[in-house]
Amino acid sequence: MKYRSIAIDGPSGAGKSTLAKRLAQELGFLYVDTGAIYRTVGLAARQRGIAPAAGECVAEMLPELSITMDYGEDGLQRMFLDGEDVTAAIRENDISACASKVAALPAVRDFLMEMQRRTAREHDVIMDGRDIGTVVLPNADLKIFLTAAPEARAERRYKELLERGQQADFDQVLREVIERDLRDTQRETAPLCQGADAVLADTTGLDLEGSFQLLLGMIRERLGIKEGTHAE
Ligand code: C5P
Repeated sequence: MKYRSIAIDGPSGAGKSTLAKRLAQELGFLYVDTGAIYRTVGLAARQRGIAPAAGECVAEMLPELSITMDYGEDGLQRMFLDGEDVTAAIRENDISACASKVAALPAVRDFLMEMQRRTAREHDVIMDGRDIGTVVLPNADLKIFLTAAPEARAERRYKELLERGQQADFDQVLREVIERDLRDTQRETAPLCQGADAVLADTTGLDLEGSFQLLLGMIRERLGIKEGTHAE
């Protein structure tokens, strides 16, 4: 049986994970958050005192790592590093920068590729990231490039941090969003870009519900899934 796959790529804070999670629930697909996998490598580097941009040291660390994902009954993805549940730890704000630094290293991208492809071979997936449609799943049934203006994305990230009870300063969050965009779009290996065959979805003026309906409509149309049905 051939499983279906939907790739959602785009810059940080565009709402990829929130939307992909809801879409997956609605359609009965598995939601795969690939950013969480890079974050886990970033956390591993930090725990070992390795600078995340230090290519050789990070590459040497990789074979020692055990990174696994698990899906509970709630369908949510949990990340484990060397057997320890790091699902919450990888969401700390300073891990974002560590993740985007290790993600620029070709050795890290190669190391994580098979894990992502295997998941898509075994399930219907909505997978979000930066290079899913362009590199990881070039044959995805639908590729969406999800974006929004940097200010709108920073605003969402800022609110999210406050809701989690973390301290945040809007100008700093905006600077971090712009820095991360630059790093993600300008790296040599698998840079973030809209593939020629990806559909653009710009959610700048849309709220969550509006963005959800926009993407759901695109998916139903492309995959031929009727309203009110799961994608069986
Ligand atoms: O999506 P999230 O913000 O959790 O991702 C953290 C970092 O991991 C991103 O800034 C990006 O550098 C990297 N990443 C990537 N390729 C992916 C997913 C995430 O390079 N497919």
